[in-house]
Amino acid sequence: MDQQTNEELTAPARKSAGVSRRSIVKYGAIALASISGVCAATWHVMQRAAASAASVFKRDAPSGELWNQWKARRWAREARHYRKLGPNVQCMLCPNDCLLEPEDRGRCRNRVNKGGVMYTLAYANPCSFNIDPVEKKPLFHFLPGSKTFSLATSGCGFRCLNCQNWDISQRKPEETKDPRGAEFLLRPVTRNMVNQPGIRDRMSLLPADAVELAKRMGCASLAYTYSEPTVFYEYMYDIAKLAKARDIKNIWVTCGYINPDPLTELCEVIDAANVDLKGFDPSIYEKLNSGKLQPILDTLKMLKAREVWFEITNLIVPTYTDDLGMIADMCKWLVDNIGPDYPIHFSRFHPNHKLTDLPWTPIETLVEARRIAKRAGLRYPYIGNVRGVENAEITLCPKCGKTVVKRDGYAVQEVNINKGACKSCDTRIAGVWAAG
Ligand code: SF4
Repeated sequence: MDQQTNEELTAPARKSAGVSRRSIVKYGAIALASISGVCAATWHVMQRAAASAASVFKRDAPSGELWNQWKARRWAREARHYRKLGPNVQCMLCPNDCLLEPEDRGRCRNRVNKGGVMYTLAYANPCSFNIDPVEKKPLFHFLPGSKTFSLATSGCGFRCLNCQNWDISQRKPEETKDPRGAEFLLRPVTRNMVNQPGIRDRMSLLPADAVELAKRMGCASLAYTYSEPTVFYEYMYDIAKLAKARDIKNIWVTCGYINPDPLTELCEVIDAANVDLKGFDPSIYEKLNSGKLQPILDTLKMLKAREVWFEITNLIVPTYTDDLGMIADMCKWLVDNIGPDYPIHFSRFHPNHKLTDLPWTPIETLVEARRIAKRAGLRYPYIGNVRGVENAEITLCPKCGKTVVKRDGYAVQEVNINKGACKSCDTRIAGVWAAG
């Protein structure tokens, strides 16, 4: 996850009530019992959902005037990738598999059950947007030196203890946006007004306007980033589809926690991804991120199969993900399962969110991780969030060893690539090097 850099836009979180797995089973069973003629297949669906579903926010959907305003703003849309189960709904977007009774809210905070219909609350209401260098995502082998129009809504299905953007990822849409007052549509002609007091919170950015702004501002791509874009799937997908039609690329910066069907659909419209592989031990994923490892590995395989360019970020968190044996296992898995050509960015942890008592990642650990990756056969390992380490951000030709892309931080200083190959020895350098 790359860090948002614009001003903080959030209000303090309201208290929310969680629900245990046991009560999901109980309420699911009661709901089922009230549906006449319920079939055995549905029962098994409910059982599976209850067994795997994550905690949700009980009776926490917006209601009354707030709900009416949210709909009037067009910020609530019927969600995709869910199934109706009588009065309940089961989300099928990410492996959290949230099962929602009427008026419940999903674990990501963005999806609610209103009257047996699942709605996303995160449509056309970004709480953060910027124009970033593509290197910030980080993507080093994708249109180097280009600008990307980056946006996020609130919400995430994970609970990472070290989240850099917790002020938006761990917020509900209603805590980052305000539907009261006159509507303000962000468009190229109104873009200079966005910093006026009170505008940003009630501002809408419809998909066509996001694409037009990106185009007018000279961006080669749009990036869905900062929080977890999977949980604003409908908004991301609709923008990406329009952008693709206008030959603007789409970048998904993600934790990779998504189910196969929505990912298959998404692969049709995205051009590149940066996937956080936060560790290589299921129990650490559970403890540090409250997620599962296997779905992330499946996502990497799917991106490769669908020929979507991607790069991997591995944040090395002291005492959690700094075990060098685990890093070696991870690199071996990557070489064996997706091959040596996908870059990996070892990123430096800094004390943050709920891990303020941990130290920064020692530089030597990052350098050793890069050495391990090279030994395992990965051709493009980088070190990020750190200055002064030799060749930390430089791309070297894996054959002749000459510099093919020289960077200083996010600034690209040299690109010695011609038609996707090293200018010195004509070896192909994996990546996407020119638009089109
Ligand atoms: S996208 Fe949100 S509501 Fe859907 S399963 Fe994931 S966390 Fe739950």
